[in-house]
Amino acid sequence: MVVAMKSDGHLPKQILLTCDTELGEVSRHFDAQDSFDFFVEGKYDGQQVGFDFLNQTASDFGAKMTHFLDVYPAKNGLEKRFSNLVERALNQGHEVELHTHPSWQFDERRIFMFQYSEDEQREILAHGIKLLQKWSGKQPLAHRAGGYGADNRIFKLLSEFEIRFDSSYYFRYRNCPMEGLALNKTQAIEGVVEVPITVFDRQQRYAPGFKKAQRTQLDLRMGLSIKEIEAVLDQSPPGAILVFFFHSFNFLQIPFNSKTRKFGKPAIDRQLMESYRSMLKMISGRNDCSFATFGDLRMAEHEPFFPKVSVSASFSQKIKSKWQIWKGIDHV
Ligand SMILES: [Zn+2]
Repeated sequence: MVVAMKSDGHLPKQILLTCDTELGEVSRHFDAQDSFDFFVEGKYDGQQVGFDFLNQTASDFGAKMTHFLDVYPAKNGLEKRFSNLVERALNQGHEVELHTHPSWQFDERRIFMFQYSEDEQREILAHGIKLLQKWSGKQPLAHRAGGYGADNRIFKLLSEFEIRFDSSYYFRYRNCPMEGLALNKTQAIEGVVEVPITVFDRQQRYAPGFKKAQRTQLDLRMGLSIKEIEAVLDQSPPGAILVFFFHSFNFLQIPFNSKTRKFGKPAIDRQLMESYRSMLKMISGRNDCSFATFGDLRMAEHEPFFPKVSVSASFSQKIKSKWQIWKGIDHV
């Protein structure tokens, strides 16, 4: 999709829908084929609400999904499934880029890129790029480290492999040791452009006088309303790149007890599927926004920005969210 100039001369706000498509760290303890069905394809209860649903719904609104694919579990009979997945995405006009969860292939005790030496990271990148090239027939344009766990060494390494974009930077997130980067603004380092995960200041009001400010990403699983997302878009400057965040298992509710490390019975989150549709409808109806992939991005001059949104939140929602898998695996 070409990001065109709007008639008033401003670049549109560029909407990048990114999905971490992965089996997840937790799957290493389960059967790989079953995990692929569940966490990647979103197969449950005779239905399929993962990879294809995300793509098809994006297509319905003229958007493209960019999958950051964790390629490292592609062994033990899974490689065919990975190559088929990539083929399906590309055939439907979506994109596949590199997501690095090195623990699957290298050292299961080290789950973040920054825990590896430069030479080891080079080996991890080479392995992942080789697989993606084999399946897609092209060089990836972008990289995202699993759990946002990359440090500034990644820029030189990505430039060696001619990967033009990184999207691992999450402002002040505890697993993200990147330094010296601007808030919600692209920046070129060692010839690689960092496209940070968009974050905003979400003030949750629990009761009169009880407020909690929380840095949040554009991720529907955080319980964001369409109104909140609209407010973030309104407060973003023309030309800004807004990085939305999904996981391939986005629409499966997976109860997880972090004390006993046990899973409960999953459920399909229909309400969230509906929110996804409503969100895309809202964005596609705005004349100041355009959907984009990494190949479409235009670099615009703007100041760093930090949208502020105030919402009421019920305490019960907060407790419920503790039992979800993404709390258990915490963004990795
Ligand atoms: Zn990941």
